[in-house]
Amino acid sequence: MVLGSTSHSGTHDEHTNVMIMRKKTSSRALAASVRDTIVSPRRWALSAQSARVVAYSLGIEAVALVLTGYLLATTPPRVGAVVMLGVLIAMAVLQAELNRQVERTRRRVSGMAHINMTSVWIFAGVLLLPAAFAAVLTMVLYLHLALRSWYRLHRVPAWRTISNTSILVMTCYASKSVLVGTGVEDIHVAIARGWAGAAAVVAALLTHFVVNAILVLPARARPGRTLTELFGGWADNGLEVATLCLAVLNALALATLPGLALLVLPPLLILQRAALVKQLEQAAIRDDKTGLLNTTGWHELAERTLIEAEQVRATFGLLMIDLDHFKRINDTYGHLAGDTVLRKVADTITSAVRGHNDAVGRFGGEEFVVLLPDVATQHDVGAIAERIRHAITTLAVDVGEQPAVQTITGLSASIGAAMYPSAGTAVQRLIDAADTALYHAKANGRNRIVHIADLA
Ligand code: GH3
Ligand code: MG
Ligand code: MG
Repeated sequence: MVLGSTSHSGTHDEHTNVMIMRKKTSSRALAASVRDTIVSPRRWALSAQSARVVAYSLGIEAVALVLTGYLLATTPPRVGAVVMLGVLIAMAVLQAELNRQVERTRRRVSGMAHINMTSVWIFAGVLLLPAAFAAVLTMVLYLHLALRSWYRLHRVPAWRTISNTSILVMTCYASKSVLVGTGVEDIHVAIARGWAGAAAVVAALLTHFVVNAILVLPARARPGRTLTELFGGWADNGLEVATLCLAVLNALALATLPGLALLVLPPLLILQRAALVKQLEQAAIRDDKTGLLNTTGWHELAERTLIEAEQVRATFGLLMIDLDHFKRINDTYGHLAGDTVLRKVADTITSAVRGHNDAVGRFGGEEFVVLLPDVATQHDVGAIAERIRHAITTLAVDVGEQPAVQTITGLSASIGAAMYPSAGTAVQRLIDAADTALYHAKANGRNRIVHIADLA
């Protein structure tokens, strides 16, 4: 979705109107973000989710809400705990405000929920506060993030934010249970117990990390997903552990010399910025539309593959794939539907070559390129290409919104194939060779595979 797009050919009056609208928008930003986050029905696209995800989200929300209500009603409102809750909220809000732009950019780039480092406050809350207060802290911080940092970044619907908040609340209850179970109710008791207290805190930290990873699984699980897709990569998990470690130091400072807790802010702000840089690096080599490697990313990988193949005298294959008569799809169903088809084709190609450690890229438009390392013969390359071609012809892509959903079938693609080193010893030569083969596949009637070696 394009945000804040305005007509390029606007007159002066239109321009002024836009300026006035912008002004109004900023003065009503909070009201608008509340409406966007809570009221707008499009953001509640729960119906588009599988029944399993809906049931799980509603279930965990209900449990978190009931449990928190019960615990709040039974927790004596000690002044010290209420003050500490206020301090944690104040520090968290200060950090979120200082890093608002970084967080917004991270959210925009990742397009999904990501490690947002609120654990620094939330896990500190687990160590310092009664369980119910840690839950309240979680809810307040996520509400603040949703209204101030994530609003109008339409990619994450409100129901997912609420279900993530509930998952975090349940995570707090799990790590708090470990503390209570080991007789170390909070960080003050841990300090008094010495090493035994430290061990209990570490056990709670690990529980917090593991339980959170497990609770997000049901919403993420889909057939064929890799471990990284299910649990996140090393970098994400490392960041979460680092954040939890900072939370312990934060809680220790708040329990002993509260003023020093402010020292947590600089490393936190830098950590968040570093995470953004990492995300931008990733985004620079990915195609936004399909999530495949873009031209830059694919070229880099191809060069590396070629150098490795040279060193060990290995061979590899290269496929160039172009959808047939794709313009007709756009003309008939519209550009958005065309984009949906492109995403579906990208997934199909990726699944068809999975297990070969292959690299699929999108060379702009509706042209895809596949690197096939460890493929020894032209016959093997042909077999993989045939698998892809066949998979594309069996695709049925639903486009449009209910009740006007249409199903697009009858897709096909033409594929050009080439092999290293017989077709060329430089990446560009191999691409040119596959491209020539693809041209012949198109010229000979489309929906077919042509290998460059067969043309010689
Ligand atoms: P053929 O390849 O079989 O010769 O016919 P074609 O209709 O597919 O022709 P060509 O490959 O030249 O056209 C590509 C079309 O793909 C033109 C453009 O409208 C469309 N296209 C390119 N990029 C995108 C995109 O990102 N989204 C959508 N929806 N369409 C795109
Ligand atoms: Mg085409
Ligand atoms: Mg094309």
